[in-house]
Amino acid sequence: HVLFSTAKSGAAGRAGSPSRPLSASSDSRRLAGKVAVITGAASGIGKVTAAEFVRNGAKVVLADVQDSLGRAVAAELGDPDTACYTRCDVTDEAQVAAVVDLAVARHGRLDVMFNNAGITGGNYAGSPIESLDMADFDRVMAVNLRGVAAGIKHAARAMVPRGAGCVLCTSSTAGALGGSGPHAYSVSKTAVVGMVRSAAAELAARGVRVNAISPFAIATPMGARSAREMLGLPPGGAGDEELIRRLFDEDINEMGGGIVLRAEDVARAAVFLASDEARYITGHNLMVDGGFSVGKPLNVQAC
Ligand code: NAD
Repeated sequence: HVLFSTAKSGAAGRAGSPSRPLSASSDSRRLAGKVAVITGAASGIGKVTAAEFVRNGAKVVLADVQDSLGRAVAAELGDPDTACYTRCDVTDEAQVAAVVDLAVARHGRLDVMFNNAGITGGNYAGSPIESLDMADFDRVMAVNLRGVAAGIKHAARAMVPRGAGCVLCTSSTAGALGGSGPHAYSVSKTAVVGMVRSAAAELAARGVRVNAISPFAIATPMGARSAREMLGLPPGGAGDEELIRRLFDEDINEMGGGIVLRAEDVARAAVFLASDEARYITGHNLMVDGGFSVGKPLNVQAC
C-alpha cells in the first residue's frame, strides 16, 4: 500500500544502524557554520530572521524583489561572506533555482532554506466570495504557494545528495482559521502546510526536514498595510503609527503578562527549527500565535 511503502532511497540511518551523533560543537551559537537562504528577506519577518541567523553563526543569502532595501539589509548584517543579497522573484522558478545555486557556489552547500516571501493580495478588509478576484487569487497563490513549492524543490536538489538539510516555510494563523484573512491568502497559507506535510513525508527518509511556521499578526510593513485597510486608513498616510501599534499590540496580539508578538519571536522559532536541536522534528506546523488558533479571543472583539 502506498501509505506504508518502504522508502528505498534513504541516505543514512536505516533501522538498526547507529544514530547520527548529537552534535558536540564547541561553538554555542545555534546555527554555527550553517548556510541559509531566506526569501522575502528585505523586510519584516525575513529581515529580522536574517539578523537572528547571523547572530547565531549562519551565513545567509538574502533574496527578495526589493533590491535596494535587500542590499542595505545585507550590508548591515556584516561582510558579503556572512550576508549577501540577490534578487529572486519566487514566482519565477529559474530565479529560485539560481538563488540555491548561488548559495552552494558561494559556501559549498545549503543547510537551511527559509521560504518566507509572501503577499496578502487584495481585499484585506473582507469582501464577499461572490466578488473574488481570480487574478488576485492567482497572484497570491503564485507567490505564497507556488513560490514555496519551487523553494522546497530546489532546496531538496541541493540537500538530498548530502542527506541533510532543513526547509522552513512561512504559513500563518490565517491558514489554520478561516475568516482571519482574505480568501486567497488564507487558502494559500493552508496549502503551504499541506505542501510541507507532503514534502516532509517524502524527504524524511532522505535526511531532509521540512517544517512550517505560522505567525499571528505582526506590524511588519505587510501587517501595517493590512491594518490600514481594516481601519479604513489611506495607504501610507503619516501619523497613524500609534493607531496601528495599538491595534496590533493591545487589541490583537497581547498574550497576557504583557507579552506582545514581535518578528523576533518568529525568528527565534525559525532558529530552533533550523538548528540541530530540532533534528527529529519534521512535517510540523509551529504556531507562533499566543494561543489564538486554539481559541484565545482577541483582546478587542470588534476588530
Ligand atoms: P513584509 O511585506 O514585511 O515582507 C515580505 C517580503 O516578501 C517583502 O520584502 C517582499 O518584497 C517580499 N516578496 C513579496 N513578493 C515576493 C516575490 N514574488 N519574490 C520574492 N520576494 C517577495 O511582510 P512579513 O509580514 O514579513 O511577511 C513575511 C511572511 O510572513 C509572509 O509569507 C507572510 O504571509 C507571513 N506572515 C505575516 C504575518 C504578519 O502579520 N505580518 C502573519 C503571518 C504570516
